[in-house]
Amino acid sequence: MTDNADLAALIRTIPDYPKPGILFRDVSTLLLDGPGFRATIDRLAALVAPDTELIAGIEARGFVVAAGLSYALGLGKLMLRKPGKLPGEKIGADYALEYGTDRIEMHVGHVRPGQKVLLVDDLIATGGTASAGVELIRQGGGKVEQALFIVDLPDLGGATRLRNQGIEVKCLID
Ligand code: AMP
Repeated sequence: MTDNADLAALIRTIPDYPKPGILFRDVSTLLLDGPGFRATIDRLAALVAPDTELIAGIEARGFVVAAGLSYALGLGKLMLRKPGKLPGEKIGADYALEYGTDRIEMHVGHVRPGQKVLLVDDLIATGGTASAGVELIRQGGGKVEQALFIVDLPDLGGATRLRNQGIEVKCLID
């Protein structure tokens, strides 16, 4: 990881959101900055494994990252969605949150068997969301060997958790 301090400076930190004690790293201020967003996508695109065939983004901020990379690399994208949003036949993966559970879903048949899928999101914290994404894509028949994020919160262990599942994890900012 290079420093990327220029990009880190564009990310706003909001204390105590969504609950006391959480420092929310708000990438919406980075997205407002045209050159900053372009540099984010260019730097992430340079990290993408050359044999990548499809880019999966996690709702909602992961969609923005996936769309940028998809355009930059000329690859298709797959939306991993919150429950109840997809009109077609779908599969899902549940995952634990600090309080309760959540779920992400994808359309059946939108990943070819053995297709190499890159997973992206804005940020990895505990890795619960990304692990569910990996599980879902694998359930759909795809191969996930790499995941990219703008921000890693290393103290929360998510990147290590994904690496323990055999996934290469790269982030622009720690
Ligand atoms: P996790 O499943 O714990 O890795 O959380 C990752 C997901 O929650 C990502 O989709 C992030 O957008 C969001 N998230 C978790 N923690 C934060 C944080 N401190 N600041 C901003 N987004 C966060």
